[in-house]
Amino acid sequence: MRKVYLDNNATTQMAPEVISSMQQSLQLYGNASSMHEFGRDSHVAIEHARNQVARMIGADAGEIIFTSGGTESDNAVFALARDLIDNGSPRKRLITSTIEHPAIIETCRYLVKHGYRIDYVPVDSTGKIDMDRYRQLLGDDVLLVSIMAANNETGTIQDILQVTKLAHENGALMHTDAVQAIGKMDVDVKAWGVDYLSLSGHKFYGPKGVGALYVRSKAPFDAFVKGGHQEDGKRAGTYNTPAIVGMGRAAQLICDTGEQERAELWALRERLRNGLIANIPEVVVNGHASDCLPGTLNVSFAGAEGESILLMLDFEGVAVSTGSACATGSLEPSYVLLASGLDVELAHGSIRFSLGRYNTESDIDYVIEKMPPIIKRLREISTR
Ligand code: PLP
Repeated sequence: MRKVYLDNNATTQMAPEVISSMQQSLQLYGNASSMHEFGRDSHVAIEHARNQVARMIGADAGEIIFTSGGTESDNAVFALARDLIDNGSPRKRLITSTIEHPAIIETCRYLVKHGYRIDYVPVDSTGKIDMDRYRQLLGDDVLLVSIMAANNETGTIQDILQVTKLAHENGALMHTDAVQAIGKMDVDVKAWGVDYLSLSGHKFYGPKGVGALYVRSKAPFDAFVKGGHQEDGKRAGTYNTPAIVGMGRAAQLICDTGEQERAELWALRERLRNGLIANIPEVVVNGHASDCLPGTLNVSFAGAEGESILLMLDFEGVAVSTGSACATGSLEPSYVLLASGLDVELAHGSIRFSLGRYNTESDIDYVIEKMPPIIKRLREISTR
């Protein structure tokens, strides 16, 4: 049966170039912290990867800390904020948005439970943060602002340059979760001026379980994972050399072909969007019309449940996702779409198509062919 993978925001297929560089690096078994030749060989490979990752986001190599992924990078920044507050910082408030990834939303929930003050910037119907409200929330008691560069469900892109400028004008530190942005839009830490940025290898054709945190050279930072002296004392734990090498290679590929790839992805996304609208009545496209990641298309189909669409597409060999947390046993609609003001029924009927490097026009045409009868059938049995 034909297989079409349109769930690239969940994770990507590893690039063949990444697999081959990882296979070679599996021979590098020396501990990169050891001083002997075995260790030095691993160390050289890791530093090469560090340069590749740094180059991809316009950072200096010394500003990259390798982590276990986006979740750890995000957690590290909030742990730092907590430490600074506990150690007497006069700034005791944090600002984030209502549509952040659970890596941040749940971390904030935990902090609030423990008495820390966090304000949430709301978003408009396109998923853009409300800049007026953000300006109002800023103040000289704000320690950290954390706003994602692009949303994983809708693909909506925020104006991180402006968000950072305002944060800094108010003396706050600025973090952005760029896990979904990497490879899909321009990400330049120096142009944005951010203090911290999270990224994750498996979202840009690298391996899972590895990521990085950019920490601007003069920004405060303390180890979240404590232990040995790796990463200059900023992140302990023996290096996962093959994973780091793989992420470095993936970063290199983004530098080499990223821009052309984005144009191709946008063309595929538009083909899918137009095809769905032309063949299915009452299609609602969620997110921002133009400030959107090129491969992300989030659509709602009134009268059809997202989970049912997902399962019927799966039956046809097509992998997509819904924003709801059905995988965890709850059928709550997506909090991201609800935060954008979408009504509950439409939020329940939403599907995220996320396209990637290895999709073709014929993949898209296959989905356009399979979708109309699925939606028709679900609407016929729907109780609306
Ligand atoms: N932040 C965003 C925006 C994400 O989309 C994800 C993954 O879905 C994460 C953080 C977590 O990254 P990781 O899977 O590397 O822990």
